[in-house]
Amino acid sequence: MLTVGLTGGIGAGKSTVVRLLAEHGAVVVDADLVAREVVAPGTPGLAAVAAEFGGAVLAPDGSLDRPALADVVFRDPERLAALNAIVHPLVAERAAALQSAAPAGSVVVHDVPLLAENGLADRYDVVVVVDVPEEIQLDRLTRLRGMSEEEARGRMAAQADRADRLAVADVVVRNTGSTGELAARVAQVWRDLIGRLGARGPDHR
Ligand code: ATP
Repeated sequence: MLTVGLTGGIGAGKSTVVRLLAEHGAVVVDADLVAREVVAPGTPGLAAVAAEFGGAVLAPDGSLDRPALADVVFRDPERLAALNAIVHPLVAERAAALQSAAPAGSVVVHDVPLLAENGLADRYDVVVVVDVPEEIQLDRLTRLRGMSEEEARGRMAAQADRADRLAVADVVVRNTGSTGELAARVAQVWRDLIGRLGARGPDHR
């Protein structure tokens, strides 16, 4: 098995790259999805969040009221740390379980938007960063996602700098060209990953 942590700034093209890698045969673990699953209604994770933050972060139907929780942790690093202390271990445990369920010899790609921000690079055999200059990020977020320029700049500013993300990369996918060029680059990256997997020898799970 080869584990890959894939990251990139908002709108850089992570989902597109993950989809292409899945088409080549990668097993995908989506951290955002896992983070939602571990606080779904009825989970111990949601109970722990409600115990820490009170009933005000629950919607009337008992599910997590994300905007209410975001209001509480936004601009309060201590509350955010308390939330992360609950959620991060649960996410790590579930992601590890999904990874161990993958067949031997798989390339398992973890789609982790906040990999650099949360210092998670060491958890993976290979870190792939999808990279675009900020002007392109801004253009895609405003033109293709309908965000205002202010909103797009705000979201980008809340994330790691491009340089900090590139600093943890083993492989960089520059997504400045067409979608066809991106597909060609991902095919190359897939061959590289398969090569790294092969280099580990047949006995390595
Ligand atoms: P988020 O951080 O919001 O999850 P993301 O990094 O997963 O975003 P994508 O959703 O893959 O990014 O891409 C953002 C937008 O840019 C999408 O609308 C996608 O179709 C488009 N896009 C991605 N790559 C290219 C490209 N090379 N050329 C043109 N459009 C692209």
